[in-house]
Amino acid sequence: MKRILVTGGAGFIGSEFVRSGVKKGYSIAVVDNLSYAGDLERLKNIIDKIDFHRRSITDIKTLRIIFDKFKPDIVVHWAAESHVDRSILNASPFIDTNIKGTQVLLDVSKEKCIKKFINISTDEVYGELGYNGHFTETSAINPNSPYSVSKASADMLGRAYFRTYGLPVITVRPSNNYGPWQYPEKLIPVVILKALNNEKIPVYGKGENIREWLYVSDCAEAIFKIINKGIAGEIYNVGSGQEKKNIEVVKKILDLLEKDYSLIEFVKDRPGHDFRYSLNSSKIRNETGWDIKVTFDVGIEKTVKWYIQNLDWVKRKLKFLRKYWKKVYS
Ligand code: NAD
Repeated sequence: MKRILVTGGAGFIGSEFVRSGVKKGYSIAVVDNLSYAGDLERLKNIIDKIDFHRRSITDIKTLRIIFDKFKPDIVVHWAAESHVDRSILNASPFIDTNIKGTQVLLDVSKEKCIKKFINISTDEVYGELGYNGHFTETSAINPNSPYSVSKASADMLGRAYFRTYGLPVITVRPSNNYGPWQYPEKLIPVVILKALNNEKIPVYGKGENIREWLYVSDCAEAIFKIINKGIAGEIYNVGSGQEKKNIEVVKKILDLLEKDYSLIEFVKDRPGHDFRYSLNSSKIRNETGWDIKVTFDVGIEKTVKWYIQNLDWVKRKLKFLRKYWKKVYS
């Protein structure tokens, strides 16, 4: 099975997966509508080696044509509206892409007899934990934000298409990713950029919320393991075991940049902010042999270095981001 159709392949994690897939010798087609979060620059070194389509996953007619021409064996579905804060301001695009788009993609995959459909979900579908415990694949789902509800709905659609039609859907739930090319609205790039500019760094609440940080190449590698060894109908958690309070992440970045902690500014907490996510990922480890290669201390240093070396890209994104927020939410 060598032909993969990747949705959201111009996004942060999707592009890492595509770059790695090309290196591994897979034939890859990408369907990405280049929303504000998508960027072909992430694929610039391999664009002539892939079959790229600037299309929405909600466009069933075009998807049928792309599937007929490319004839994929596998679909890896990353495309999504992915930012929780945006989902709190306006849930509509999350319902359209994450739920409706997934349903359309599942329908076309069913029609075209896809051999493996890998649905990328998130640890956020489980809801929050206190200081103790970890979510397993059999934990109940209790999503709390419009984003996580839309992702949980997509998971349930995947489950239904497996149970009802026998479409070989596999659900993957990674924890928080970080690394190069992440859009500068998410925590780690925001902190790096504000710190470099000596600007105040907004931290929700007291920064006590805990996330499990997964380096982006480890996440992509987990999907290749699942392509080869994952079982249809199953769910796989993908967590790094590297749990950090947000405030620890912020201080680590400030230390790396030799900046003062006085840049930290605690701001009103996000509504419905989940306290902690933590995954038990022994299933993927035991069944596929996957494990992380990059610890948080190594990954965060690589990430900070990458942003320093790619400030031009980031500045272009920031210019657009400021215009976008002004236009949509003023
Ligand atoms: P991202 O926002 O960087 O990328 C999403 C990509 O999807 C973009 O390239 C965008 O243009 C594309 N897209 C959006 N709407 C589309 C549509 N209607 N049709 C086609 N393409 C569309 O997101 P990311 O951080 O790379 O996350 C990728 C996936 O992984 C998402 O499904 C997300 O829910 C999941 N996930 C992300 C994290 C994380 O920490 N970033 C953690 C767990 C799971």
